[in-house]
Amino acid sequence: MTDCLFCKIIAGSIPAGLVYQDDAVVAFKDINPQAPLHVLIVPRKHIPTLNDLDPEDDRLVGSMFRTAAALAKEHGYETRGYRTVFNTNREAGQTVFHIHLHVLAGRGLTWPPG
Ligand code: AMP
Ligand code: ZN
Repeated sequence: MTDCLFCKIIAGSIPAGLVYQDDAVVAFKDINPQAPLHVLIVPRKHIPTLNDLDPEDDRLVGSMFRTAAALAKEHGYETRGYRTVFNTNREAGQTVFHIHLHVLAGRGLTWPPG
C-alpha cells in the first residue's frame, strides 16, 4: 500500500524509532507517547482494521502479542504491568488504517479508558 504511513515506515521510506523487527512484524516508538513506554507493533502485511483479519492471520496476531510481551519484559514491565490495545475505526480513535498493537507501560493506567 503506497499510501499507508505504516507501510512506509516498514519499507524504511519514513524514519521511525525501530525497537524490533522480524519476518512478520515491526515495532517502533509512538511519535506521541502516552506513557514512558509506548511502542506500536505492526504486521508487515497491510491489514486496515481488525475487521479485515483472515483465519490465515491468526499466527501473525499471536506473534504481535508475543512481541508485545517480549518488549514489555525487555523494558522491565513484565511484573509491574503494561497495556496492549488495538483501536478499531472512528469511535475507538483509530487514525492509521494499518493494524497496530499499542504497548503502554511505565505509569498507572486508568480503567475504564477514555
Ligand atoms: P491509532 O490512533 O490507534 O490509530 O494510533 C495511531 C498512532 O500512531 C498514534 O498513537 C500516533 O501517535 C502514532 N503515529 C502517527 N504517526 C506516527 C509516526 N510517523 N511514527 C510513529 N508513530 C506515529
Ligand atoms: Zn499499511
